[in-house]
Amino acid sequence: MRAEPYWLDPLTHLRRQRPDHAVMYFSPMVLQRQAARFLQGFPGMVTYAVKANARPEVLVNLAAAGIEGFDVASPAEMEAARQANPQAALHYNNPVRTPDEVAQAVRFGVCSASVDSLSELEKLAPLGPIEVSVRLALPVAGAVYDFGEKFGVGPEAAVDLLREVAARGHSPAMTFHPGTQCSDPEAWVSYIRVAADVAARAGVALKRLNVGGGFAAHRLGEAPDLERVFDRIGQVTRASFSTMPELVCEPGRAMVAEAFTLATRIKALRPNGAVFLNDGIYGALSEMRDISASDRVHVFDPQGQPRGGAMIRRVVFGPTCDSLDRLPDPVAFPAEVQEGDYVLFSGMGAYSLSISTRFNGYGVGDPVTVASL
Ligand SMILES: *Cc1c(COP(=O)(O)O)cnc(C)c1O
Repeated sequence: MRAEPYWLDPLTHLRRQRPDHAVMYFSPMVLQRQAARFLQGFPGMVTYAVKANARPEVLVNLAAAGIEGFDVASPAEMEAARQANPQAALHYNNPVRTPDEVAQAVRFGVCSASVDSLSELEKLAPLGPIEVSVRLALPVAGAVYDFGEKFGVGPEAAVDLLREVAARGHSPAMTFHPGTQCSDPEAWVSYIRVAADVAARAGVALKRLNVGGGFAAHRLGEAPDLERVFDRIGQVTRASFSTMPELVCEPGRAMVAEAFTLATRIKALRPNGAVFLNDGIYGALSEMRDISASDRVHVFDPQGQPRGGAMIRRVVFGPTCDSLDRLPDPVAFPAEVQEGDYVLFSGMGAYSLSISTRFNGYGVGDPVTVASL
């Protein structure tokens, strides 16, 4: 086995190696620091939503940082989480399952599952009396995607389902997912209040309330104030329930985004100002189609020196031969930019490697480990 070097930072690696393909840089320290921030600040159990980035180095570093639970959606994610931490609590919070998937959940020792219909509750019988969370859906504003359109039940149906969960001997819980990239704590508040109301009307004392993920990452402008969101969640839960349930959260994006930086290289600069990068929407920049492009972009020459000059917005194309492979918004580049330069995108750990393809022979390989980003 070849020993992998551990680099000081992305620029040191870029200067020495001059990679011609796009590279993801991973800092275990940045990831562990963010895990510590959640563990210290969130007033309950912190689990990690594996789908945001299921790389083994992410899962083992989260386990090392003290994350003891994982939100898993499929048997493959159960296996990945188990490999990272054989004792991990597996929360199976994809509310639509096949009987074969439930059999796998039994094999992996899932201890909690969410439901949004009676038929899905029935499918959970082989798991025995585990914790079952009723997934609530409300029409919400304030998130970039509205997950409530796909999963969850409204308050009326949630009352009946929660009673049924308790009647079947499961440990009763509720959950919701406010959406993704929610910077306003109010995205959680209405959900918590309605959950308390549902539990009261069902006459069921919730053991736990899982407030989902959706915590914002540092994309545009300022870094989000996570502690403000944590405090508000704790305060509203205490105020809304007569018996306070234990809280659980399941961040994906906010946990992992900052731990990765993407380095791309400029293949061509066109007279009309367009830039061709060696990665695009089929690679690690796939999320740019759906949520606005990061403005945390830095350009360096091949010696690692920052490029200067006035910032000019340019259309950015990816490397594949597909005309869709273009970032939806222009990106600002310094006037001195040249072909062969490196373009670094910060905060790229979430929903990048997990969605990235090898279309047309491009895409990113295994991440390069660095001390800092
Ligand atoms: C995707 C997902 C998460 C993580 O969402 P982020 O926006 O990445 O924090 C958490 N819980 C559930 C049920 C999800 O589907």
